Amino acid sequence: MPLDIVTVPCLSDNYAYLVQGPDGVCIIDAPEAGPLIDALEARGWTPGVILLTHHHHDHVGGVAELRAKYGCKVMGPKAEEDKLPPLDMGLAEGMNGGTGEGYTVPIEVPGHTLGHMAFHFPEGGVVFTADSLMALGCGRVFEGTPEMMWASLSRLRALPPETLVCSGHEYTLSNARFALTIDPGNDALQARVAAVQAARDEGRPTAQVPLSEELATNPFLRASEPAVKAALGMDGATDAEVFAEIRKRKDNF
Ligand code: ZN
Ligand code: FE
Repeated sequence: MPLDIVTVPCLSDNYAYLVQGPDGVCIIDAPEAGPLIDALEARGWTPGVILLTHHHHDHVGGVAELRAKYGCKVMGPKAEEDKLPPLDMGLAEGMNGGTGEGYTVPIEVPGHTLGHMAFHFPEGGVVFTADSLMALGCGRVFEGTPEMMWASLSRLRALPPETLVCSGHEYTLSNARFALTIDPGNDALQARVAAVQAARDEGRPTAQVPLSEELATNPFLRASEPAVKAALGMDGATDAEVFAEIRKRKDNF
């Protein structure tokens, strides 16, 4: 039974997700309760678990209301326990759970925050990355270091290329404009930017993309590419140094 994944727009540009699989329904991040309750009720679904990626308010603001309404269990990174709403279970790497397509592997991807987690469903073929790897971009490095974020992205980059990457914000169009300044000669990027523009013109979400497409077009994942290093005048630099330079340019873009 394949996972049924529902993208739920929340707040001004956040995405939360509903995942229905063999173990029931789980919610990935809860920016606010209202849109999630509407999406659940429209399908007659009752969530059993909320999985939280990191402590920022725009990912956890709806937890208390959802927990009160459904009595669902709340799980998130143990490393951020002191900043998160009360957890029923603090997660660390290795605490995999679920069955079949619902089998869930938490991956520690620090950088944006120190405890940020991604949730990989290897049998379901999807990874929820929130503010770590994002469509054509990555989260700002608030708590960690660029080296740490590069290491986190490198782990996500190594997942099977057909994996669907579902991230936490609709930032793709502004990410696309920046990506073109780093990698202007990339034909796949040019084509993707046009597709993203068309999707946004129709109001469709663009933050759910196969990893293979990110590998071909996301400048932050391409910091190791000789063409990208050359375009930045950083031929002899390490991958992490090139990543740090791209991140710095994006912060000032
Ligand atoms: Zn965040
Ligand atoms: Fe966020």
